[in-house]
Amino acid sequence: MTSTQLDYGLYDIVEMKKEHPCNTRSKIFKIVRMGADIKIECQGCKNVIMLTRYNFNKRLKRIVSKAQDDKTD
Ligand SMILES: [Zn+2]
Repeated sequence: MTSTQLDYGLYDIVEMKKEHPCNTRSKIFKIVRMGADIKIECQGCKNVIMLTRYNFNKRLKRIVSKAQDDKTD
């Protein structure tokens, strides 16, 4: 049994398992708020949806790109 915790952060671009039900059908979202709930912005239509962390983790497929590199110095 493996549980891989994906390392996501604010303003990262992520791909979700299900597309946004808008006319762009985009699966690509940007994380715009990280709190008790997570807000993600559809990169097709720019609408923002809110998910609990639990639901976000369930729906997250992969991280497309990090907003900033880890500071290594
Ligand atoms: Zn959309």
